[in-house]
Amino acid sequence: MPDLRELYQSVILDHSKSPRNFGELTGADAQATGNNPMCGDAVTVWVRMDGDRIADVHFATPPGTGCAISKASASLMTTAVAGKTRAEADAIFDSFHRLVTGDASEGERLGRLAAFGGVAQFPVRVKCATLAWHALRAALEQVA
Ligand code: ZN
Repeated sequence: MPDLRELYQSVILDHSKSPRNFGELTGADAQATGNNPMCGDAVTVWVRMDGDRIADVHFATPPGTGCAISKASASLMTTAVAGKTRAEADAIFDSFHRLVTGDASEGERLGRLAAFGGVAQFPVRVKCATLAWHALRAALEQVA
């Protein structure tokens, strides 16, 4: 069995305890909420666009919900996609999804998001790690 502690690397602990870009984004162009009933996670993502670029992105979880993985993933996602075009954000999500489903080579291009590589050893956690990303994609589809 892989060691669960390896999954909770310092970057994940940091972002789960002190999430970045947390709270409703005023002036958002779109928002979407994702739910992961298996774990009890719920994440709402807000985006504000500047043309094709993501000018600002926030997320929030209802009080008392959201495991460390889902919160940290959402927090790191906001820092990773802010300022990116929709296509760039999509490409990062695709790469991130490949990482957490077992393609460790993706870690090299993902920077701090590579901290989630250990998720691949816990298939039940993949939904936690990708929840905010799916919500982001749903929000971006609204502003197409
Ligand atoms: Zn979770």
